[in-house]
Amino acid sequence: MNLVFLGPPGSGKGTQAIRIAQELHLTHLSTGDALREAVKNQTEVGKKSKGFMDKGDLVPDEVLVGMIKDIITGGELSGGFILDGFPRTIPQAESLKTMLQESNANLDKAVLLDVDDEEIICRLSGRWFCPQCSEGYNYPAKMPAKAGLCDKDGAELKRRADDDESVVRNRLEVYRQQTEPIIGFYSKESILTEVQGADSPDNVFNSILEAVR
Ligand code: AMP
Repeated sequence: MNLVFLGPPGSGKGTQAIRIAQELHLTHLSTGDALREAVKNQTEVGKKSKGFMDKGDLVPDEVLVGMIKDIITGGELSGGFILDGFPRTIPQAESLKTMLQESNANLDKAVLLDVDDEEIICRLSGRWFCPQCSEGYNYPAKMPAKAGLCDKDGAELKRRADDDESVVRNRLEVYRQQTEPIIGFYSKESILTEVQGADSPDNVFNSILEAVR
């Protein structure tokens, strides 16, 4: 099964993509995580991407399409995948379609997680993560036992630089203008399925499973 997860920043698509990928034995690929890794390792892709990411803008299509093309041709996704954070523009969606056709594959579903703006700003302003084990926290919904420290390994929790409120507002604006048109693209292809993302994580997980099975 090949899936893409769509939704505004903070809609929970990353968390859900990881859980659904485990449940259905699919490869999970987050382009945001891959780009953050590239920035950390100061690769060519990382150097090209950092300025855009810091502002909450999209990294140019050719950088992302090149990255995904390498991954698809390398065969990493051939056992079924969830793409989390790609595509984010119509040209990316069109390129993905072509790249998959060239590998005799296709998308089964595009899962859209719907959450309204105020809920998103509230979620992201309380979002923290452990830099060592990647465990996510959320104030006040999921607090660590000791303030500011990871429950699993005691490391000091951090925030993503682009979760600052002004950057979040720009990321939402970018989502509305550049990413939302993809909803129409997948709706025309008859593979769009919409799930309410404002529910509890377990309920959202079950709704997604029901939608894709
Ligand atoms: P995310 O972790 O998915 O919120 O992505 C973090 C940042 O990485 C975004 O705000 C963009 O700057 C960049 N990014 C991730 N995926 C893409 C994409 N498909 N196209 C362009 N930029 C992306």
